[in-house]
Amino acid sequence: MSRAMIAVEDLHKAYGDVQAVQGVSFRIARGEVFGLLGPNGAGKTTTIGMMTGLLPADRGRVLVDGDGLARKPMAVKRRVGIVPQELALYPTLSGRDNLRFFGQVYGLRGRRLQERVTEVLALVGLTDRADDAVQTYSGGMKRRLNIAAGLVHAPEVLFLDEPTVGVDPQSRNAIFEGVERLAREGMTIVYTTHYMEEAQRLCHRVAILDEGRIVALDTPEALVRSMGAGLLVVGVPSEGTEALQACLARHPAVIDVERRDGRLHVRVHHTQEGLTALLSALGETGGTVRSLAVWEPNLESVFLHLTGKQLRD
Ligand code: ATP
Repeated sequence: MSRAMIAVEDLHKAYGDVQAVQGVSFRIARGEVFGLLGPNGAGKTTTIGMMTGLLPADRGRVLVDGDGLARKPMAVKRRVGIVPQELALYPTLSGRDNLRFFGQVYGLRGRRLQERVTEVLALVGLTDRADDAVQTYSGGMKRRLNIAAGLVHAPEVLFLDEPTVGVDPQSRNAIFEGVERLAREGMTIVYTTHYMEEAQRLCHRVAILDEGRIVALDTPEALVRSMGAGLLVVGVPSEGTEALQACLARHPAVIDVERRDGRLHVRVHHTQEGLTALLSALGETGGTVRSLAVWEPNLESVFLHLTGKQLRD
């Protein structure tokens, strides 16, 4: 990778006794769409907060195009657009006037301001409703306007924190298409979500976060490929399953077998043959199972395999 657009080095953050982020490091290339994927409470918002300078880190640092946030906060912040989870809009003003306001805060004036407001309204699909008061917008439209507000000063890097939580399908699609267009135009985007389909569709690479740590970081394709044809999660008795585990591990359909919290995680080359292997291993060892789940190879099963937990409850 040439010089990273964003370098995150060993970030830590605790709230009292809660270790929210515990040694997170990664680099993001210019023009990359980088996903931070994890369940509620994994530390995504806290990481974004430290990356955008809204939250001081206990330890570690963040560089944007080589500049430290701590040393050149204003210079860095002008190059960055932030779309927080909470809406920051004026309900009685129109969408257009909200965007004019945000543009002015960033120093835009005159024709340039008008142009940018028109461009970002089109990007988020709100041109038709631009002159209506924001209080008449649906929740999804407000979210789209919130995204436009983060873009109006033409940042090079955009941070989107769970932009599709609670939005209707039409707005969700408009958000996806907007992100895809920005990505094609070369913007660097940091996107947090707990929806694996979004990460899979939008992101060039994803970091999977759990309990404040990165448990995997790669392209969605590579992460999914690592699951082979899928994962069998086999609930087993607490003792006496070593023979079953060893027998399964020898089968050619099986990639590997790991024991996690009373379950065997069996990654397989072929699902059908893996199930046959399980049956014959049970016959051979006289073992029993208490439950069986078959997981497709996707980011959800990657997460389950790495953490023993599901992304969504
Ligand atoms: P979500 O998907 O729910 O937004 P997240 O992955 O963004 O979750 P964070 O919001 O960063 O996670 O939270 C990480 C941990 O820190 C959680 O255990 C959370 O309860 C805790 N936490 C976050 N903010 C605070 C705060 N201001 N005070 C105390 N604890 C906090």
